Amino acid sequence: MTPQIDVYKKSVYREPSPLLDEDNPFEAMVQRFDVAARILELDEGFYEYLVAPSRIHITAIPVVMDSGRIKMFEGYRVIHSDILGPSKGGIRYAPDVHLDEVKALAAWMTWKCAVVNVPFGGAKGGVNCNPREMSPGELERLTRRYTANLIDVFGPDRDIPAPDMNTNEQIMAWILDTYSMNAKRTENAVVTGKPIMLGGSPGRREATGRGVMTVTIAAMDRIGLRPADSTVAVQGFGNVGSVAADLLARQGCRVVAVSDVTGAYYNAKGLDIPAMQQYCAAGGGTLEGFKDAQRITNDELLTLDVDVLVPAAKEDQITKRNAANIKAKIIAEGANGPTTPGADEILNENGCLVIPDILANAGGVTVSYFEWVQDRQGYFWTEDRVNRRLDRMMHAAFESVYEAASSHKISLRIGAYVLGIDKVATALKLRGIYA
Ligand code: NAD
Repeated sequence: MTPQIDVYKKSVYREPSPLLDEDNPFEAMVQRFDVAARILELDEGFYEYLVAPSRIHITAIPVVMDSGRIKMFEGYRVIHSDILGPSKGGIRYAPDVHLDEVKALAAWMTWKCAVVNVPFGGAKGGVNCNPREMSPGELERLTRRYTANLIDVFGPDRDIPAPDMNTNEQIMAWILDTYSMNAKRTENAVVTGKPIMLGGSPGRREATGRGVMTVTIAAMDRIGLRPADSTVAVQGFGNVGSVAADLLARQGCRVVAVSDVTGAYYNAKGLDIPAMQQYCAAGGGTLEGFKDAQRITNDELLTLDVDVLVPAAKEDQITKRNAANIKAKIIAEGANGPTTPGADEILNENGCLVIPDILANAGGVTVSYFEWVQDRQGYFWTEDRVNRRLDRMMHAAFESVYEAASSHKISLRIGAYVLGIDKVATALKLRGIYA
């Protein structure tokens, strides 16, 4: 086979030039960090220390594809901070994943862990690939080689991966096995979000959506909205969105719209969420072809006249372009970074209460922490105990953020950043700078 020149071009690593617009997730993180740092009167040196990642790993991953051809993929692992403990964060497989996105996600993990009082630092990983076009065998080889390349980075006391977009329990099982084969012992605390059979925790799969539900109900209570009188729209029907929709419906809310990558589905009388979950599981993992709903666009879903909007798909969905049209009274950010800084201002002016990602979706890392604790103790809890402890921690975090926001007269988002940054800065001050 004669190699094509464009094949050569694709194989060469190029640093993506930083985008300095509001859609760049790392810039979005820095803009919020700036505001919180000013409120905290953060020392200049601390600012520089805390805003940037502490380590960035970029690794080339050769995979023998089913055709026999070797294909190169690019993988990232960014450790933003390990000041509060081992770093923790998911791994994302996507064709458009880029370094700035992983840097932002790693920083958000740092602030998130601090906000919910989990003794971890923040990290994130990504591999530039299209998992939908890969066979299970190709995905396994990619995962094992990515893990092997980063074997000195990962570890239960160093850096602990978890699932994120397009990665799941099976991928965590392959990471666990690759790490354990190299360590010459079974080390199940090296990843979280793994199958229960391998030391996973009951309740982990539902934890992020459950946390979204808990803080949404707490926020509704604060502004006097009764679940039974409230309507909800959820963007994204994956791990986070489908569970949040289901649990909010169980609390009595009327979930009138949900969407996934195939479009949005609306029913003014309320959607049958369990039926939609079953439909999704039975089919190709999407809602394509679901009947008992009217088809609308994803853009229409975001601007529906509902009480609560849960963006639970991806970054940069609520921007300067559509924020003024959003009618929801509460936005609970199931996804990471769904709202840009430009949109924040408009939403605040319009009186919309935004429960920020670093609080709203922290249920996942909280139960990941429980999973890590259980693995290390070799003693496993019941799902009921996991859920009760999760609810308690999410409530406590919501109250702390609400209190920080009220006392400084700032949004919940900046309140959460103030709380998270203050905790990490205080720990850094106590530890001092190693010379
Ligand atoms: P997932 O892959 O299970 O689900 C993503 C969903 O979004 C799918 O239904 C997909 O079809 C849909 N989607 C994709 N593009 C869309 C678009 N343009 N419009 C509407 N829907 C679209 O992923 P997930 O684990 O549910 O993660 C979703 C978000 O939540 C991500 O931002 C992730 O970082 C964040 N998050 C996840 C967890 C977790 O525990 N899974 C924890 C914290 C934060």
